[in-house]
Amino acid sequence: MPWLDNIRRVTPYVPGEQPQGAVIKLNTNECPYPPSPKVGEALASMSADNLRKYPDPTSETLCAALADYYGLTPEQIFVGTGSDDCLAQCFLTFFAGKKPILFPDVTYSFYKVWAEVYRIPYETIPLNDDFTVDPKAYGRENGGIILANPNAPTGIATDLNVIEAIVAENPNSVVIVDEAYIDFGGETALSLLPGYENLVIVRTMSKSRALAGMRIGYVMASPTLIKYLNDVKFSVNSYTMNMPSLLAGVAAIKDDAYFRQTVARIIATRERTKDELKKLNFGFPDSATNFIFATHPTINAAELFDYLREREIYVRYFSAPRLKDYLRITVGTGQEMDTLLRTLAERIR
Ligand code: PMP
Repeated sequence: MPWLDNIRRVTPYVPGEQPQGAVIKLNTNECPYPPSPKVGEALASMSADNLRKYPDPTSETLCAALADYYGLTPEQIFVGTGSDDCLAQCFLTFFAGKKPILFPDVTYSFYKVWAEVYRIPYETIPLNDDFTVDPKAYGRENGGIILANPNAPTGIATDLNVIEAIVAENPNSVVIVDEAYIDFGGETALSLLPGYENLVIVRTMSKSRALAGMRIGYVMASPTLIKYLNDVKFSVNSYTMNMPSLLAGVAAIKDDAYFRQTVARIIATRERTKDELKKLNFGFPDSATNFIFATHPTINAAELFDYLREREIYVRYFSAPRLKDYLRITVGTGQEMDTLLRTLAERIR
C-alpha cells in the first residue's frame, strides 16, 4: 500500500454507546428531561420548504440571543455544531505554535485526540492525588492551555481563583476553559473575560439545555479571538449551523425559567443519589456536574460495569490507569436512579 505514507492516521475518540430501546442510559451525560417546549414550537414553525436555502453562515440570530443572555456583544460569540466542534476549531486556531500545549492527565479524552489529529505538540500535567488542579504546574513554557471546569470524568470544580491564576500567569498563551458542565456547579470564568484577552470559554447546549441531538456549542471570548476563530471556520466550512439548530438554540436560550427548573431537578437528584451511594459504601469526589465518578472499596469497577450492562443499565467505564477503579454515572431521572441504586444494592449487600 504505497499510499499509506500519505494518509493521516489517528486513534479516534470513542464516544459512549448509544443503545436503542428501553434501557437506562446513564453513560453520556445527557439530560434526562426534554428540552424546553419552546424548542418544539420553534421547530414546528419551520417550513421544510426553507431547507432548499443555505442557513445564515454567520448564525446571527443565535449569536445575538447568546450575547443578550450573557451580557456580551455578538462579536464575543462563536457557535459550532456542539462544543466538540467549537473545541476542535479552537485547537486549530489558537494552538498553532510550536511549543507544547498543556492539559491535565485526567480530563476529557478528546483533547489528546484533537492535539494528535492537528499535530499539536502537548504535555499532560498530572492532577494532584485527589484529582484537583495544581496551578503552579501550569507556569512552564507552553503554546496554550485547556482545562475543563468542572472537570470530566471526575466532576470536580476548580476554584475560580485557580483558573484566574493560570490565565494571569500565561499572558502569551490562549487559555481555554471548557465549561460543558458549569450550569450544574462551580463558578464560571465569565467574570474574568473583561480582564483577560487570552481567555476562551466554551459551552454546550447538550447537557443543561437537553439538546445533545441538535449539536449546539458556543465560544465566548474577546472580539479579537472570535475573529480569528471565524477566519478559520470560514476556511473550512461556512455553513456549520443548520436552520433547525439555529431556531432550537434561540428558543432554548430564551426559556430561562425552564432551564433553571431542569437544572435544579438534576442537582436535587444528584444530591440524593450521592447520599444513597454513600450508604452502599461508594466513594466519589464531590460532583459539581450531572454525573458522579464513583468507586467501591470491594467490588471491581469493570465488573460492576458489566453487571449493570447485563441488566440494561449503561454507565461509563474508562480503563486508563488512574480511572480504572471508577464508574462515571450520569444523573438520570429520580426513577432511573432508584433502579440503579436498587440494582447496585442487590450486588453489594
Ligand atoms: N466537553 C466535555 C468536558 C464533555 O464531557 C463533552 C461531552 N462529551 C463535550 C465537551 C462535548 O459536548 P458536545 O459536543 O455535545 O457539546
